[in-house]
Amino acid sequence: MDTLPIESLPLVKILPLFVLALFIYGLAELSFVHFRQRKAKLGEYGMSLKGLGFTGLVGVLVEFVVGPFSKLLLAVWGASLSPFDAGLTPVGWFYGFFIYEMSYWVQHWLAHKVRLLWCLHSPHHAPQSMNLFVGFNHSFLEIIFYMPITLGLVPALLGVDPMIIAVFTFVDVVWGNLLHLSDKVVTRRWGPLERFMQTPSYHRVHHAQNVKYMDTNYNSITLLGDWLMGTLQPLQAQEPVKYGITREVNTSSFLDVHFGEFTLLWSDLRSAGNLRAFFGYLLCPPGWSPEGEQQTAAALKKRSVITREGTRV
Ligand SMILES: [Zn+2]
Ligand SMILES: [Zn+2]
Repeated sequence: MDTLPIESLPLVKILPLFVLALFIYGLAELSFVHFRQRKAKLGEYGMSLKGLGFTGLVGVLVEFVVGPFSKLLLAVWGASLSPFDAGLTPVGWFYGFFIYEMSYWVQHWLAHKVRLLWCLHSPHHAPQSMNLFVGFNHSFLEIIFYMPITLGLVPALLGVDPMIIAVFTFVDVVWGNLLHLSDKVVTRRWGPLERFMQTPSYHRVHHAQNVKYMDTNYNSITLLGDWLMGTLQPLQAQEPVKYGITREVNTSSFLDVHFGEFTLLWSDLRSAGNLRAFFGYLLCPPGWSPEGEQQTAAALKKRSVITREGTRV
């Protein structure tokens, strides 16, 4: 494949500096919210830092045992396997942007709609307030294994040049983290940007457990995927965001935040009386049940619409 080495891209070299800047901003934000407003939930900052530390530790271990394993390396490998290369032409960049955004939407939609994947993604949704550290709060399983495959390997197999994947990864890391700016510091919407870019206002909706807001705003850069797939949900003044997930989480417990959903899944799998129930628990959306009333986001939304319409009548 005829492409420049990824390491030559200046953006990739300066990415750690941007991440460090975001981290320092996060500390400043924490100081402001904690000391000036006295509203910070310090346990949740601790949760995010523990998650980040553990991801770093597992990353080092994986590198030590199997060698480097990253989104960009998988992108280069995927490109070598792909029969098609859209290249670095203007059309290639446009195609790359489209595929990256749609891959992001699909991988994030799956993370909410397949219970096994929700177990990997739920730590990111566990915090009950919003701050910049939530952007760093991901399961090591999601960051180290799931995202490199879905956002590195898959777009490259679909013919996106690894250089383009590197550029969108940079934008994704920087912009995607900024979406978690504290709502106690950044309170306003971002004007005309709200028409085509994901902004903190959209992402706060994504982190909400309000039935109306569940499973919306999956993209992290633009609104494209959510707009095309019908999952775009702006923040509504009459519906304030309630952050977090629908189960009680002990936010001071690393084990509960990162493995609580796995424990619940395991107990459902053990109670499954047949293969349909077993694979239903594993692969259907969270809240699915082989019998009785469903508690999935789709079922809750449907019941809430019926209730609202009933109330209106
Ligand atoms: Zn999510
Ligand atoms: Zn988020």
